[in-house]
Amino acid sequence: MDNHSTTPVDPRVLARMLPFFSEDFGNAASRSHAFGWKAEAAVEAAREEIAKLIGATGREIVLTSGATESDNLALTGVTDFLASKGNHVITQQTEHKAVLDTCKALEKRGVAVTYLGVDKYGRVDPQAVADAITLRTVLVSVMLANNEVGTLQPIREIGALCRARGVLFHTDAAQGVGKIPFDVEAHNVDLASLSAHKMYGPKGVGALYVRRKNPRVRLTPIIHGGGHERGMRSGTLNVPAIVGFGEAAKIAGAEMPAESSRIQALRDKLARLITAELDQVQQNGHPVERLPGNLNLSFAYVEGEALMMAMRDVAVSSGSACTSASLEPSYVLRAMGVPDELTHASIRFGLGRFNVDEEVDHVARLVVAGVKKLRAMSPLYEMAQEGIDPASVAWGAP
Ligand SMILES: *Cc1c(COP(=O)(O)O)cnc(C)c1O
Repeated sequence: MDNHSTTPVDPRVLARMLPFFSEDFGNAASRSHAFGWKAEAAVEAAREEIAKLIGATGREIVLTSGATESDNLALTGVTDFLASKGNHVITQQTEHKAVLDTCKALEKRGVAVTYLGVDKYGRVDPQAVADAITLRTVLVSVMLANNEVGTLQPIREIGALCRARGVLFHTDAAQGVGKIPFDVEAHNVDLASLSAHKMYGPKGVGALYVRRKNPRVRLTPIIHGGGHERGMRSGTLNVPAIVGFGEAAKIAGAEMPAESSRIQALRDKLARLITAELDQVQQNGHPVERLPGNLNLSFAYVEGEALMMAMRDVAVSSGSACTSASLEPSYVLRAMGVPDELTHASIRFGLGRFNVDEEVDHVARLVVAGVKKLRAMSPLYEMAQEGIDPASVAWGAP
């Protein structure tokens, strides 16, 4: 139940990929023989499927190694290309590190970056974006859906106001594409980052959507070489992975409505089973504007780490320290104003295509038992039960 970290490759995707490791191993850039032609045709078919899923055209899809690279290319490539026009970027505090750390790197190169705050649900106010735009602003980057709390951003409104002000709009759509409807025209998006492994495709492949008209977006490449991907991203294409990405996109497009409602029902059931048995559980993120598979809960008086230990056969993640590569508590929950003790007590469940009803029952049972056990050992929880606010107690020797 950690499908926001990654998803398994769908067996149908794997089946489509396999021949491209063996008999159809050609280099898609080889123009002189059938091996190359076949690989190129497969890549172009995949590109069309990826484009179709987001309402784009194949020529607007730049294939990359994943959403991290796409975010880097969008932010660095656009600010570099438009350096003579302006040097200001607007983003927000709960973006993925692929956006935030790229912005940090841009700041070292003299780009000014505004990091907008979010409300308690993790949403950025479109009016705040509008107010932050100056004559020097060249790019706004706000994600489609957050990877920790599942909150959906008002990107349609942000895209519209950017268009009206002549500022390019990029969205990191890695978590949302394939899960919720996303259309680059309807949402007024100029650049969008996608990742195959968040939508049942393979790891190490993704795409950057780059709008070709109204307006035509231009950017400076960050990887130079043989001029692949119309010069925007050189390097021999990973044909099997791209074929898999295309198949994953095709399946997502066909199955999204039914799949999203099934997953949402499982997610809601998990929430119901847990909150029916436990008090002092806080849901993090937006109650409605959220990814169908996301459930982020804080269990007051329980360490997220300890709870994960108590249910070792379940894969989830926590906003507390030590679980993430950064060894820092969740900056996303902090930006939303979640108090530190509830950040440490948070668990992120990410339900996906291959989760089934019995797993929801099993996980709910383990969570309820784990929280009850840990709270039974917690003096703070006991005090709270007796109506004493632990925050009001003067600790230490009398
Ligand atoms: C997973 C993720 C990324 C990184 O994608 P990779 O393909 O693993 O590089 C970027 N942004 C968001 C929102 C993500 O969830």
